[in-house]
Amino acid sequence: MSETLRNRTSPLRKPELPSYAVSPGAGLIRPATQCPSPNQDERPSGVQPELIIIHAISLPPGEFGGSQVRELFTNSLDWDAHPYFKEIRGLRVSAHLMICRDGELIQFVPFERRAWHAGESRFRGRSECNDYSIGIELEGEDETPYTDEQYLHLTAVIEAIRECYPHISARHIAGHCDVSPGRKSDPGPAFDWLRLYDGLCSGRRGER
Ligand SMILES: [Zn+2]
Repeated sequence: MSETLRNRTSPLRKPELPSYAVSPGAGLIRPATQCPSPNQDERPSGVQPELIIIHAISLPPGEFGGSQVRELFTNSLDWDAHPYFKEIRGLRVSAHLMICRDGELIQFVPFERRAWHAGESRFRGRSECNDYSIGIELEGEDETPYTDEQYLHLTAVIEAIRECYPHISARHIAGHCDVSPGRKSDPGPAFDWLRLYDGLCSGRRGER
């Protein structure tokens, strides 16, 4: 493509953004790649999702585009494939969703069930955040800017989740660093919270 053409077309280019929707009973979001994780169980009786926790993950740390996070969340990671994996050998974790660098959305656990993402955690005095939260992993790491596609898809995904669980307000979105301070730092200083809030405010469904 010539420089002239690129300059003319790039400002007009809009990323394709699917219209996400959550099925109320099953807690599945569509469209998404379904990649069920065995690392899940029942939420406590009567407990619904009330909080969204944003994480960052990449395996090995800082390397993007591979399948290792999927393998970790499905207990199929080869612990001997990289020196770092020895440090996490045997870890059994998951998240409800992951948003890849290109915006691809992967669901590992239905929202109605408990994913194992927050560990020891506390939000406004209430512990055991896994019981009542939805965990969203961004493929990334603390110091590397997240992609435009990730912000767009994250915003749209949160809007769809809030359509299904309207009691989750913008005040009920936290980073892993917020619920596990001192122990966890993700999504890190690279995550632009104002950009997320701006996106939610200007979304077609508006802020609540
Ligand atoms: Zn995390």
